[in-house]
Amino acid sequence: MTGPLFQAHHLSRGFRLPGGRRLMAVDDVSFRLHQGETLALVGESGSGKTTLGRMVVGLTAPQSGSLTFAGSAIRAPRREVQMVFQDSAAALNPRHSIGESVMVPLVWALGLRRPAAEAQARALLDRVGLAADHFFARLPHELSGGQRQRVGIARALAPNPSVLVADEPVSALDVSVRAQILLLFRELRDERGLAALFITHDLGVVRSVAQRVLVLYRGQVVEQGPVAAVMDRPRHPYSQALRAATPVPNPDRQRPPVPRPPDLGDLPGCAFRARCPGAHAACAVPPTLRAVGGDHDVACHLAA
Ligand code: SF4
Repeated sequence: MTGPLFQAHHLSRGFRLPGGRRLMAVDDVSFRLHQGETLALVGESGSGKTTLGRMVVGLTAPQSGSLTFAGSAIRAPRREVQMVFQDSAAALNPRHSIGESVMVPLVWALGLRRPAAEAQARALLDRVGLAADHFFARLPHELSGGQRQRVGIARALAPNPSVLVADEPVSALDVSVRAQILLLFRELRDERGLAALFITHDLGVVRSVAQRVLVLYRGQVVEQGPVAAVMDRPRHPYSQALRAATPVPNPDRQRPPVPRPPDLGDLPGCAFRARCPGAHAACAVPPTLRAVGGDHDVACHLAA
């Protein structure tokens, strides 16, 4: 297909906090995914990334907005859209063997009989680098974090999805294991032509997995565009601060931390106003996302 495979249109979701205050976890977010494309969703903890990912797979209902897959509206979890969870230990049933965990979606989502499901589960385990003869009957606690994440990937792929949401899939892993899982992710995406939403707080991994990036701050899109444009020349002060805070491999070339002005709490206008070094009078009016060229959009009055 030539158009987007998956689209999110103006998704919003709020939660009520103790004391009755309302927090918008996701606020009017739209994006599109083409077949074979990976969109990195970045932002600090609490920026709304996970809530957005859960809405995409149907685990959290949007309060407003809509989702379309292959041009048709979707309102409930679908086989075609699957998720790899951050916490691989919690995502697996501790009493189910690894093989059983991968077989479940094959039986329930694809309707396979158990012999066919077992054969397919074994093939999937082999493909993600876990020799089925060795791992099929093992329990999750017998595996390392990296091995459990491989099981999570196999299980997400079992229903043969077209769209994969990966929620911080490598954030809990050692650096060496992280590189192996990222490589596996790229290989499987390319083999299967998957569209993917890759959620991360770590800008260091964005270039290695994604073609496009969307930056969230307090549930709002503040910048989006091709990875090279956003990472090489971020236009929004928040994206600039995120990039500046990204560790570099050589400690001698470590970037100095960005001075952070005092957080003045909630101010009317731009959501980033209380932290922004460039805030000025016009920022009392919320900026809208606008094009700055090259399929690159920024929500800041100063962006050019
Ligand atoms: Fe900073 Fe104003 Fe831009 Fe918001 S609109 S990011 S406060 S300069």
